[in-house]
Amino acid sequence: MRERRLPNVQKLFPSENGNGQSRQMILQFMEQILTGVDLLKNPDGVNLSGVKDRTDSFYNNLIQHSVIPADSMPMEEVNSELLELLHNHPYHTKYFLTNILPMASIPGILGMLAAFMVNGNNLWDVYGPAGAEAEVKVISMMSKLIGYDAMKSGGYTTWGGQGAVFSGLRIAIAKFAPEALQKGVPDNLYAFCSDAAHYSLFKSVEATGIGSDKLIRVRTKADSSMDVFDLQQKMEEVIARGGIPVYIVATTGTTDAMGIDDLEHIQATAGNIAAKFGLQRPHIHADSALGGFFAFFQDYDFTVNPLDFKEDVLLALKAIHSRMRHLHLADSLCFDFQKLGQTPYLTSLFLLKEAADLSLMDLHPDETPYVGHRGYGQYHTGYTLECSRMASSISIYSALLAFGIQGYQQLLAQFVEVNLAFREALRLEIPEAVIVNADNPGIITLFRLYPDGGSHFQEEISGACTLNELERTNQFNEILFEVLGEQRDRIFFGDTKKHLLVPTKEGSFTALYATKIFVISPYTEVKHVPEIVQYLKTFISQVYEKYAEASMTGRR
Ligand SMILES: *Cc1c(COP(=O)(O)O)cnc(C)c1O
Repeated sequence: MRERRLPNVQKLFPSENGNGQSRQMILQFMEQILTGVDLLKNPDGVNLSGVKDRTDSFYNNLIQHSVIPADSMPMEEVNSELLELLHNHPYHTKYFLTNILPMASIPGILGMLAAFMVNGNNLWDVYGPAGAEAEVKVISMMSKLIGYDAMKSGGYTTWGGQGAVFSGLRIAIAKFAPEALQKGVPDNLYAFCSDAAHYSLFKSVEATGIGSDKLIRVRTKADSSMDVFDLQQKMEEVIARGGIPVYIVATTGTTDAMGIDDLEHIQATAGNIAAKFGLQRPHIHADSALGGFFAFFQDYDFTVNPLDFKEDVLLALKAIHSRMRHLHLADSLCFDFQKLGQTPYLTSLFLLKEAADLSLMDLHPDETPYVGHRGYGQYHTGYTLECSRMASSISIYSALLAFGIQGYQQLLAQFVEVNLAFREALRLEIPEAVIVNADNPGIITLFRLYPDGGSHFQEEISGACTLNELERTNQFNEILFEVLGEQRDRIFFGDTKKHLLVPTKEGSFTALYATKIFVISPYTEVKHVPEIVQYLKTFISQVYEKYAEASMTGRR
């Protein structure tokens, strides 16, 4: 009798009292998912098995046929539906070499699970005490790692590396124009980043109302890092016109080439200019979303080399570290844990050198009738752009404990070692594939082909090529993008249409196209490199053949 009166929907929730029967049920459902995914795995390709035809009317059909079922569907069947979503999904096997799209590690996943079991709201510690606790811990841990004073620093988890760039800009505006919060943004504020920066700042100047016309792009050097002399000139030009530089984004690890801006030089230059003109120094945000994780080598003893890294790996890590060690000079920065932190989306951490800056953006108690500013509760994140927040810090915390500094060092060093092996194999096996980010050790290799099989990279970056020549080479590289893209379920490479802005002979600027090898799977090892490079070689020959045929028939 009692059984019948119980609404069935309670069964869709974890138990109230911790009974084993309910737990077993949940475990079974999880097992169904995990086993289902395992059955789809194929280590000889990239995609999980299963067929999906995403061409033509795929999404249209979905729109037409998707309706909410009238009756409850048994969880086993729901699981089957979920597993079907995963059919043919890219998966991080050793052949996954596209962009910064990592696998979620077990500690990362379990951290999420722990957070979901209480489903706290990270907005306020009265609602989400676990998230608040983990957030304070991971902010302190990462602050100490990079050399911030953890007693003064602050931050929060937010919506991506982009959210961090945006948060930095909000603070910059509030620092320079506190009245902007009420009156709107003055029309003389300027932000700066390099040509190679992520488009996060572009979106942020749009969204804050500064306007993208006031985003000044600074030239990059051949190693994709910011040309700080150009920054200096451009800041002075802005000031001469009555503008105020409020925000500089220094990219410490560009998304394409892994160029690393020189924070020390940028900070000194920004400080000198500010002093010269009697202004406040602009807020400097290190966009370390991707590259910041190399701070795990902050205290690595490169002389003793306790983890026994090979000589070339050690040199590469040292070169990266020589720039990353200045991270603490930034006023704010970011660690995208869903990138090299090995946690699921979305686990980005925004760090701020002076937690006190957050008060510039905090809500007045009158504006928060539901939460915070009570006699109880001591942690209320009224300064974030979000209201409710997931407790993603718990996943970050879990990964930091499980990997430890050494675990991250090992993993990153493996990526670097595999990347070095790719470069060596390319130089030996496919000399016509010219590595165009050779100055940046790291986990990414960009290479570019030239129709005549030679290397014209130096001419390109020195402005000796016409726009026409550059475009022709770009189109040639695009043929390879297409060919590799079609076969991406076998080996998944990346590409970029914006590696360096180079001067043309005519005096304009244009971007270079390049194919990308991004080492991001823990399963890609040095021993897999020869096979992958042979695979590339076949396709590159095809591109040259296709091109030769096309030239013969006079289409080019
Ligand atoms: C990935 C990346 C971003 C954007 O981060 P999201 O987490 O995707 O919002 C911004 N800047 C850099 C340098 C990045 O690598």
